[in-house]
Amino acid sequence: MKTRKNIGDIQNCYGCGVCAAACPKDIISIKLNSNGFYEPVLNKKDCVHCGLCMDVCSFSHSSVSLSESRVMGSWAAWSNDPATREKCSSGGFGFEVAKMLLSQGYSAVGCKYEMSQHRAVHFIANSLDEYLPSMGSKYIQSYTKDAFRLINYNKRYLITGTPCQIDSFRRLIKKKGVEDNFVLLDFFCHGVPSMNVWKAYVEYIESFVGPLINVSWRNKKCNGWHDSLTMGFIGTNPIKAASLLEQGDDGVLYSRMTRGDLFYRLFLGEFCSGPHCVHNCKYKFDSSAADIRIGDLWGDTYIDNEQGVSAVVAFTEKGAKVISQMNTVTLMNHPFDVVAEGQLKQNCHQKELSSLIQFFLKKRVPLDGFIIRVILLSQRVITKIKRVFQI
Ligand SMILES: Cc1cc2nc3c(=O)[nH]c(=O)nc-3n(C[C@H](O)[C@H](O)[C@H](O)COP(=O)(O)OP(=O)(O)OC[C@H]3O[C@@H](n4cnc5c(N)ncnc54)[C@H](O)[C@@H]3O)c2cc1C
Repeated sequence: MKTRKNIGDIQNCYGCGVCAAACPKDIISIKLNSNGFYEPVLNKKDCVHCGLCMDVCSFSHSSVSLSESRVMGSWAAWSNDPATREKCSSGGFGFEVAKMLLSQGYSAVGCKYEMSQHRAVHFIANSLDEYLPSMGSKYIQSYTKDAFRLINYNKRYLITGTPCQIDSFRRLIKKKGVEDNFVLLDFFCHGVPSMNVWKAYVEYIESFVGPLINVSWRNKKCNGWHDSLTMGFIGTNPIKAASLLEQGDDGVLYSRMTRGDLFYRLFLGEFCSGPHCVHNCKYKFDSSAADIRIGDLWGDTYIDNEQGVSAVVAFTEKGAKVISQMNTVTLMNHPFDVVAEGQLKQNCHQKELSSLIQFFLKKRVPLDGFIIRVILLSQRVITKIKRVFQI
């Protein structure tokens, strides 16, 4: 008998963790590879070659699992609760969907930051209080295996995740014949950065503020939504001088992208995106396996808004129905092109010197040290030269 290929043959994949959740023998672990991205590791000797890990793997399929996915409606939206809107990254729509579905007896699966290991993890909430740590984007890859394995597939859940996590997850629930029990929510996704960069950044920040007790990626309190790509920290020690950090009235220290924050410079400056995000993402713009997609409604329409506006797109009838039931949000109907203005249509890139940065971070050089600064400066020169000579 010909044995089926298994996940042990896959490398540099999305790291979505769904293969590990699906494996009937529980012999797949999800580990960070040397480049700082999650990857499945299979205990090959116990594999029964059932092929389920490959069936649910969105990385190994060229198409997206929701073949009929089409835009069924698109909106600008924001929570009617100002506190929710302030805490969430855009308009708080993701949190409001969970609030409504939890009140209907669903559980909600989202992502929180685990301070003890400085990583993002998925978790299951059965009440709104339990779901509070999901608020706000964590711009690092999330570890999903433990939460996904705990799901009771005969009960009802809202699952929120990156588009690749959601595509694999849809494959899994299709396979189990339980799609009706789930509402799937993804977001417009730029891509995820290497955990090597995140860990180096945490060390760099802790050298100023001591061990961190709180961290956030998006903050509107500092300078409004349009400038909210702003890291926020609470550390244990009195702060040492650091030119990039601003002290907020609320005791939080802020570091804004617009003032040169190093994490955002490397992440959104295309120095540390996953190879799977650069080469294999198939979920940009209107391509999704989710019922609903959310994001920031950047662009001209809400240019003067500083509280935050979510972009919301329904891709299935189920998604449109969920949205139509929501009465704790303000919804404004707009054409898809308006709602998706400012979103990437193509995959993120890698800058010429990104592999040098990744090489040195693997060697654990400090993020704000001489080597990284020289590379960043050299990249600026290369980019300028290319622009001048239009290469
Ligand atoms: C890695 C990443 C890249 C993104 N790229 C874009 C982009 O290019 N354009 C854009 O418009 N929006 C992007 N977003 C989404 C955006 O940051 C907001 O999450 C979105 O606007 C929804 O905000 P909200 O106000 O509804 O609620 P929020 O409270 O901000 O909702 C966040 C939801 O996302 C989930 N979540 C948070 N972090 C992660 C994670 N690491 N992995 C999986 N799920 C997570 C939470 O569980 C929560 O349900 C990205 C998010 C992430 C995590």
